[in-house]
Amino acid sequence: MIVVMKPQASEESIQAVTEAIKSYGLETHVSQGRQITIIGVVGDKTKLANANLEIFENVQKIVPVTESYKLSNIVFHPEPSSLSVGNVTFGPDSMVIIAGPCAVETEEQLLRIAKAVKKSGANMLRGGAYKPRTSPYSFQGLEEDGLRYMKTAKEETGLSTICEVISPDAINAAVKYVDMIQIGARNMQNFFLLKEAGKSGLPVLLKRGLSATLEEWLNAAEYIMAEGNENIVLCERGIRTFETATRNTLDLSAVPALKSKTHLPVIVDPSHATGVRNYVLPLAKASIACGADGLMIEVHDNPAKALSDGPQSLTFSQFDELCRELAPYVNLTGRSFHGV
Ligand code: PEP
Ligand code: MN
Repeated sequence: MIVVMKPQASEESIQAVTEAIKSYGLETHVSQGRQITIIGVVGDKTKLANANLEIFENVQKIVPVTESYKLSNIVFHPEPSSLSVGNVTFGPDSMVIIAGPCAVETEEQLLRIAKAVKKSGANMLRGGAYKPRTSPYSFQGLEEDGLRYMKTAKEETGLSTICEVISPDAINAAVKYVDMIQIGARNMQNFFLLKEAGKSGLPVLLKRGLSATLEEWLNAAEYIMAEGNENIVLCERGIRTFETATRNTLDLSAVPALKSKTHLPVIVDPSHATGVRNYVLPLAKASIACGADGLMIEVHDNPAKALSDGPQSLTFSQFDELCRELAPYVNLTGRSFHGV
């Protein structure tokens, strides 16, 4: 449930309510809006049966929250969240472009790609060091060496970095080298990993599970937030359907639907959604048009030789063209864009 305070509520009256709630063994989450303050209550609300919160000074109303996710719920935090990762901000005023290879293959390859995507307008570098592959015989990633190369690429280009983690050990390593960790589609409901990501304190990009509903996805975010880590960005990356023309089906309706349910920033990954490089640009445009706060795009210096996801990876010139073509779309949204 949430307690909505009157517009003129004083600091003392807000504190009186939060202290009363805490005295019953529940947690509070205060969201100070431009007009009103909302106090979210986390925990078993039946414990508040005798608290009489409605008669406290400056309490306007008490509203039950029926969804199982609370901290990620827009009702708890009615304004969109902004989140800074290195020198990048995810939120309603900016458009973040994350680009890079599916997998870190060599230090030289990563540096070449990092420099090229930066020149074209990317503001964050991606690169997988731990690859959750469908086949155990496919390239599994360079692990800690890959993370080390990500750090070098950041030092050389100034780009903030993100890398997927697939285990608690990978989280412990990633903390030393990158700015943000990614929990991939295959691990979206790995609840133990979600909790560990929460404890790490690092910003988390949480991708949608292959067949996850929005409610399941937001509950996954809740696992991270319940550990005290509110720095989460959601990433729509396509879902499993009967269609085979694309690798997955990009559910763009998830973007406005999520925005009605959560305050967390939402980005789109058209590369994994389609698996086809020619579809990446049109869907990137559509993602911006429907309200995405950013994009994640796979780019490779030689896609034909890529150790993973070559068919969906853009070449340098295709990525450069994508940044140029997206600029007017971003301008229409009024967001700032560090690209060309
Ligand atoms: C990735 O981003 O490299 C990846 C494996 O994506 P997903 O988890 O969306 O399949
Ligand atoms: Mn990939």
